[in-house]
Amino acid sequence: MSNFKEISKIIATLYSKQRDSDFPGANFYPHDATKEELLEANKKNPLILNEFSIVKRDEKGKLYAVMYYDEYKDEINKICRYLKDSADLFYKNDRKDYAKYLNQLAKDFKSKDGFNKSSLLWLKIDDSTGIDIKVGPIEAYLDKLFAVKRAYQSNLRIENPDKGSELNELIDIITALQPSLPFDGEDKVKLNVRMDYVIAMAGWHAELIPRGSNYPTDPMVIKNEKVAKVLIYSNNIEKRDGMLFDEVLPTLFEKEALKDLDRGEFMKNWLRFIVHHELTEELAKYKYKSYEKRLGSYSEVIRELYSTLTGIRAASVQVLKGVLSVKDYKYFLIALLLVSFRDWVISENGNSGLKAYSDGYVWCINYLLKEKGIVLDSKEGKISIDFTKIYAGIDSLVLLLNEFMLNGTEDLVSAEISKYTDLTIFKKFQKDLELIIKNS
Ligand SMILES: [Zn+2]
Repeated sequence: MSNFKEISKIIATLYSKQRDSDFPGANFYPHDATKEELLEANKKNPLILNEFSIVKRDEKGKLYAVMYYDEYKDEINKICRYLKDSADLFYKNDRKDYAKYLNQLAKDFKSKDGFNKSSLLWLKIDDSTGIDIKVGPIEAYLDKLFAVKRAYQSNLRIENPDKGSELNELIDIITALQPSLPFDGEDKVKLNVRMDYVIAMAGWHAELIPRGSNYPTDPMVIKNEKVAKVLIYSNNIEKRDGMLFDEVLPTLFEKEALKDLDRGEFMKNWLRFIVHHELTEELAKYKYKSYEKRLGSYSEVIRELYSTLTGIRAASVQVLKGVLSVKDYKYFLIALLLVSFRDWVISENGNSGLKAYSDGYVWCINYLLKEKGIVLDSKEGKISIDFTKIYAGIDSLVLLLNEFMLNGTEDLVSAEISKYTDLTIFKKFQKDLELIIKNS
């Protein structure tokens, strides 16, 4: 553990060397170099636009590339020493595949070929217990010139002891809820899931505080290797979303509806809600091959809403199996309403990243209003829920979304979604929610 913490600290300093938000190319390129000049130089020397190199200028003004492992030699030597020491410990504790991953990682830190080998070993580790570190130059967001240079980041986590034993069974349920297609057999992807507490994040992740991540980033790797990994960061979720229960809930619902709700239970099920969404979405990417082309500009809206609602259906199957209680399921429905209103407001206030979600939520809320699963009470002016009707409403909407994922077209979706764009109920709570979001 202490080795991994030291690695995180070093990564944080490397990231700060690479980062510079005043320049689109951060510190990966000379600040005066233009895109055209870099492209031209790359024709003669492909290391210029290599994912793991820093571009510099010599005395004559000529561009040249230095690989990360040369540029940051001392730091990387230290990291590799920590990795090898840790590998020895894992090996002694009979975690041989993890030891192999760490040793390969140490090699990859000094290799021109990047991190493919260690990443693949890591993806294939299906033991989700204990500690885990994902470290290296990973995402290319910092490079706003070409989006090729990968910035150092690390995230160090330990398994959440409270995660329950339902994860693997959940994957089976979600798989069963999606259609089985002829190519299923040859195309089965092994999904490894971890639900963790974040101990340290360095680099991009430290700025972003993500709720979870999916790997690999390259879909071709999933296709060829048939393996993917989902990480859920439980304590980040608590940090970011406690306000759903504390503030959004009393804003939207009548007092009567709130009286037997418990914060701890809500947060537990909110975590499940996110896990269900992520797993459904990850599996849907392989199940529904051509949906993106068919659904065009609606493909994200449909996929996100489909994943959320199928995740809720999976919870109802778990209730039938006795894994979750009816009360747990109610928290899922409440979570759907809370997140719909909150994310709509955040999206209205200029967060374009949430648009695909919020368009789906507007559709969903209006659909549930029509089905009388939710009612706007005229006396208190707040929302009340009819749990039987909301359950039926979600069931029928998810069937429709499933059909769209399988056979829908942009025109069909457009015709359907245009019936559910009324914003009256959202606007009713907009001011109150904006205040909450501003203060959180
Ligand atoms: Zn999603």
